[in-house]
Amino acid sequence: MDCWHCRKTAVGSCRFCGRGICADHVETLPYVVDLFKPGDVTQALIVEDALYCGACTPRPDPLSLPELDEKM
Ligand SMILES: [Zn+2]
Ligand SMILES: [Zn+2]
Repeated sequence: MDCWHCRKTAVGSCRFCGRGICADHVETLPYVVDLFKPGDVTQALIVEDALYCGACTPRPDPLSLPELDEKM
């Protein structure tokens, strides 16, 4: 796999979109691994330094897809 930005050999892939990233272009962003609700408040399990390519734009909030619910 090659880097999305410079075509060098990638050291990892973006956690959000899967693009390859080399050591020069790797960035990190917090990534929500899981959501759970042990009590009254929903809590998120977060990886603080998940690999990020710098090219994609992860949304801070989940997107609602009411169209999918209507078909079910
Ligand atoms: Zn690169
Ligand atoms: Zn990405």
